[in-house]
Amino acid sequence: MNELSDPRLIIFTDLDGTLLDLESYSFQPALEALARVKETATPLLFCSSKTRVEQLYYQKEMSIRAPFIGENGSAIFIPEGYFSFNYAFERAVPGYRVLEMGISSIVIQRELSNAREKAGLQFRGYAQLSPEELCHLTGLDPEAATRAQQREYSETLVGLSRLEAETLDKVLSPAGLSCTWGSRFCTVAASQTDKGKAVTRLVRLFQKQYEAVRAAGIGDSANDASMLAAVDEAFLVQKPDQRWEHISVPGLKLIEGKGPTGWNRIVCDLLGDCGGNDDNNRTRHRHLQ
Ligand code: MG
Repeated sequence: MNELSDPRLIIFTDLDGTLLDLESYSFQPALEALARVKETATPLLFCSSKTRVEQLYYQKEMSIRAPFIGENGSAIFIPEGYFSFNYAFERAVPGYRVLEMGISSIVIQRELSNAREKAGLQFRGYAQLSPEELCHLTGLDPEAATRAQQREYSETLVGLSRLEAETLDKVLSPAGLSCTWGSRFCTVAASQTDKGKAVTRLVRLFQKQYEAVRAAGIGDSANDASMLAAVDEAFLVQKPDQRWEHISVPGLKLIEGKGPTGWNRIVCDLLGDCGGNDDNNRTRHRHLQ
């Protein structure tokens, strides 16, 4: 690598409510910036609560081949041959090497059935729901619901009140698991994992590949805070009601534009030359702190 080269830009992004519209799951408003990502061969690294199969689906839809972080930082999936050096990994799945930080869903299911008996709570996980029930609860289509069910490091529970989720959290704690509320349901995963730890681990691999790396991160919610704190430049898009989630990350830039519309602005600004109307593409942001 030439010492005078600019740092290599890599972009971490949340999916739901950020690159994907929260209700329709569409990324259509971000197409212009996605084209620029491909033209510039910029690594676009998904970092989401979504499963491996869900993220592979969206990678294929967007014609992207890159490492990604699944199930809220539980695992990093790296395409075979992506990095030019050897690195340690815990397991392999077709076409990918996996760096694991989370607890296997087999262990989680076992702990959940113990907890169900111990705490006398009535709840069901995505794994126990029929695809029809899951479609009804989430608004996903049947294929998307099946992809969402294929969890490897977490389980989302339905039928719990917030108070019951707190009880469950206490019961699961000795097993190294915790129960966290998302937008609608609570998800059980390893307590020690978060998006930020996985981002830091993946940035180190990119640093080994390119030496100087500039990491950007884009999110919309509280569960993106650790990811946004782990990158060099952090951006927040607007929620459907045009508000920004209150996240305390120094230098965080609040971008005008809901979900993928804001995403398009940020990435066009980072990569330049998106074409179209410059005024529309120019990032409009306010600085926090
Ligand atoms: Mg989100």
